[in-house]
Amino acid sequence: MARYKIETTSQLHRHGYWLRVRCRACGHMADFSNDQLLELAKGRFVSGRIDQIVAHMRCSVCKAKPTDWAPTFPPDDHGPAPLGVNQRAWAAARDDRERKRLIRQARG
Ligand SMILES: [Zn+2]
Repeated sequence: MARYKIETTSQLHRHGYWLRVRCRACGHMADFSNDQLLELAKGRFVSGRIDQIVAHMRCSVCKAKPTDWAPTFPPDDHGPAPLGVNQRAWAAARDDRERKRLIRQARG
């Protein structure tokens, strides 16, 4: 799935990417910043290998182990927040579900 040979958090960081992890069981996707990955890896994975970090993740929806991951653009690249949505919250939204929730909130 990865188009670039990015295998560690430091490589991810160097390219300025986030990591998108997808659950094959239910299709849920979540994006992680390098900092979030390092937080997950803390005290557990000295090497910072992404596959080892993902191996310890659980899907927040169906609890299956996610199997697919790829570098993705940081949330800033989701562009300017839609009308009425807080720009900072928009940039911090981790997945499409959260972005949809922000849009719903903005519409009242
Ligand atoms: Zn799932």
